Amino acid sequence: MSAVPWRAALVDRVLPVVAEHAAVVDTEAAFPAQGMAELAASGLHGLLVPAEFGGLGGGLHDLVGTAQDLAGACLSTAMVWGMHCQQVDTLVQHATGSLRDDVLPRIARGELYLASVTTEPGKGGHLLTAVAALRDDGDALLVDRDAPVVTGGLHADGFLITMREAEDAGSQRVTLVYADRDQLAVERSGGWDTVGMRGTESVGLRIAGRVPAGQVVGQPGGFREIALRSMAPVGHLVWSACWLGAARAALADLVGWLRSSERGKGVDVRSELTAERVARVRMDLEVVSAYLSRVTDEVVASRAGGASLSGVDAQIHLNTLKVVAAESTFRAVDRMVRIAGLTAGYRKDSPLRLERRFRDLRSASLNYADDRLLVSTGALTLMDRAVRLL
Ligand SMILES: Cc1cc2nc3c(=O)[nH]c(=O)nc-3n(C[C@H](O)[C@H](O)[C@H](O)COP(=O)(O)OP(=O)(O)OC[C@H]3O[C@@H](n4cnc5c(N)ncnc54)[C@H](O)[C@@H]3O)c2cc1C
Repeated sequence: MSAVPWRAALVDRVLPVVAEHAAVVDTEAAFPAQGMAELAASGLHGLLVPAEFGGLGGGLHDLVGTAQDLAGACLSTAMVWGMHCQQVDTLVQHATGSLRDDVLPRIARGELYLASVTTEPGKGGHLLTAVAALRDDGDALLVDRDAPVVTGGLHADGFLITMREAEDAGSQRVTLVYADRDQLAVERSGGWDTVGMRGTESVGLRIAGRVPAGQVVGQPGGFREIALRSMAPVGHLVWSACWLGAARAALADLVGWLRSSERGKGVDVRSELTAERVARVRMDLEVVSAYLSRVTDEVVASRAGGASLSGVDAQIHLNTLKVVAAESTFRAVDRMVRIAGLTAGYRKDSPLRLERRFRDLRSASLNYADDRLLVSTGALTLMDRAVRLL
């Protein structure tokens, strides 16, 4: 179902660079600049940009496949790239006129890396509300915003920012606005010294500037529609794909190690206990992989048919995907640490590198709090007497 048959060749080109820098971006909590430069040069920054704007014209299946491949080499790089693509999809689906004509070709040429600004003090992660308001300034809008967590924010060439529509608008009237880096004063306001996902360098920023009113994406106050059609579904797909890719690579490494002479005497690979443990890991990944694949099909089909993704079923499926992927991939890597044991599984200097994957995957349930999605899924479940399962 790939729209870009040569995608695998592009990925093969970037993987060695991404893998080479995985350890250092983690240790130094530094942006994966070399990997991202290689992704930009390969054309993969423009994977989702339609060919008429110079992009690769890929679809969501290409996105999900590429994210898994990259995450096997470095989960931080995969997430940075995946979230860039999430923003690109938002622009492809909702930007119009001169904004679209200017920005999409720059993304396709690898000149524009996009960051996302949705989280905000006072409302936390809640996607569909905003605190800071846009202010009218003639034919322009004034942006002034605290952004406590912005992946790659210090390196971004452009930002998609959610803000309250106007000073007299309610918190649910959220507007999405695009800002070029040179239209903003961007100041670092917080660090990023975390347990895992350190290479995403998701620092705090203070952002202020003046942007032309034509840089509003979609309708003023109409971000909900964008979130439902693009930002939330694509986010859930690409995050899940990243987590699955990392856990799958970990299992491949573990199986290789279990079958090698390096294993030593500690683990009895022929015991039924080991068999049962590796079976549970494999089953978790099988289920996430199958569900990811089905939800991707559902999103692609809905968007192709112009159908809304706001229905109860589609919302439950998207929420379920994110929560199940977050829980199952972390549980899988936790089990893998147990199987490999202290020396091979838990030590930082083990060639299996399970500890980095364990730390990284711990973030999955926090990266848009599972609690928010479970509360929403619970309410939706009570509305759906028919219980139509995917
Ligand atoms: C690797 C990574 C990269 C990120 N990149 C970006 C980025 O580029 N841009 C950006 O804007 N944000 C980014 N974020 C932030 C992310 O989108 C979320 O805003 C953030 O993870 C939520 O943080 P929180 O735990 O404070 O949860 P919040 O959603 O703020 O919730 C606070 C607490 O309340 C709990 N809670 C929520 N709902 C309920 C409820 N109904 N009942 C009881 N408890 C509840 C939560 O579990 C949590 O403990 C990133 C996060 C991570 C981990």
